[in-house]
Amino acid sequence: MTAERAEVVIVGGGAVGSAAAYFLAAEPGFDGRVVVVERDPTYARASTPLSAGGIRQQFSIRENVEIGLFAREFIGRAGELLAVDGEAPDLGFVEGGYLFLAPPEGRAILAENHAVQTAAGAAIAWLEPDGLAARFPWLNVDGLAAGAFGERGEGWLDPNTLLQSFKRKARALGAEYRTDEVVAIERSGGGVEAVRLASGDRIECGTVLVAAGANAGAVARLAGVALPVGPRIRTIYQIDCREPLPLLPLTIDPSGVFVRPEGKGYICGVSPPEDQDPESWEIEVDWRWFEEVVWPALAHRVPAFEAVKLTGAWAGPYDYNALDQNAVIGRHPTIGNLLFATGFSGHGLQQSPAAGRAVMELVVHGGYRTIDLSRFGIERIFENRPLKERNVV
Ligand SMILES: Cc1cc2nc3c(=O)[nH]c(=O)nc-3n(C[C@H](O)[C@H](O)[C@H](O)COP(=O)(O)OP(=O)(O)OC[C@H]3O[C@@H](n4cnc5c(N)ncnc54)[C@H](O)[C@@H]3O)c2cc1C
Repeated sequence: MTAERAEVVIVGGGAVGSAAAYFLAAEPGFDGRVVVVERDPTYARASTPLSAGGIRQQFSIRENVEIGLFAREFIGRAGELLAVDGEAPDLGFVEGGYLFLAPPEGRAILAENHAVQTAAGAAIAWLEPDGLAARFPWLNVDGLAAGAFGERGEGWLDPNTLLQSFKRKARALGAEYRTDEVVAIERSGGGVEAVRLASGDRIECGTVLVAAGANAGAVARLAGVALPVGPRIRTIYQIDCREPLPLLPLTIDPSGVFVRPEGKGYICGVSPPEDQDPESWEIEVDWRWFEEVVWPALAHRVPAFEAVKLTGAWAGPYDYNALDQNAVIGRHPTIGNLLFATGFSGHGLQQSPAAGRAVMELVVHGGYRTIDLSRFGIERIFENRPLKERNVV
């Protein structure tokens, strides 16, 4: 057994843990040792590579809008910021926009969200039904009262390239990755003293960051902390459609069904209702939802989708925060050197740059310097005070 010490131990080397490692390693005011413990470097069951890669500013909470604006800014500079040995990554960002559609009963909420987004500086266009029909001629506007379309800054990218680019750059800047599993978190006094790994190794630490994705609830329990974050399985269906649909953004129907272009075809899906959405690590495609919910909604909203071919599907775990489907970011109030960046509930890929930077600010500066994420703290979980994000896709 070896005994060692790191200034920061990061549990989980997905997009979020790797973004935190990158921002710490890149920060001129910080030269502590950073160790990322990742139990599976193939990421076969991690959320990041299984995600749909969407980036948007259309959220209902101001901080989430600001996080989305930073994601866009960071992605725009990723070639320069994440280059290693002169090799700049290409994240494959497609600035296709998001289109949220509202029925009459959802119009007021869409308008409230739109006001929050535009006040924060997001370029979101408000469209009445005739404007929707003119701009998106393939769209059936029956039953729609309005739409909101991200004209700039929204789209999708390759999630695995973002993860690998963060990781590569973090390593180039000195962060270390360890293939092992954190199986115990040792506490003493008011803090965490060390983590123990499945190999038997023990790493004493200045700070521990829980960035364990859908497994974060289980990792938090190792420190005696109750955190309602666990895996909820989502399926993404791949379809082909003969008729070309020019300028199809990531479109979210009032039913919750979404669709966007992917290569020459499209991908689509829906989140199941809460009562049919158990916590589970059975990462299996649920074919039922396509026939029963997704395809009928798509065919109604985009008549060209009446004739689609289902060409494939994949499933992955959402890192689901059961309290309010919003991220938990910040320091534990009494275990002072225990930090969290998890519970992103389906929007963690795009939140990884801001979450990584936020962790760096807490560790290096002792508080937020850019976006104030205080409302995302774990205290709200203990006090059962949801910070509800309405726009969870
Ligand atoms: C189908 C699907 C579609 C999605 N679409 C989008 C989207 O369009 N846009 C968006 O922003 N987000 C999307 N998401 C959500 C996004 O993928 C996640 O929020 C994000 O990837 C979370 O990153 P993470 O690093 O926290 O988690 P992960 O990528 O899961 O990484 C956590 C890592 O922790 C490791 N780990 C866990 N426990 C331990 C331990 N004890 N010791 C060591 N290592 C451990 C795991 O092996 C894993 O690699 C989607 C997710 C899914 C499943």
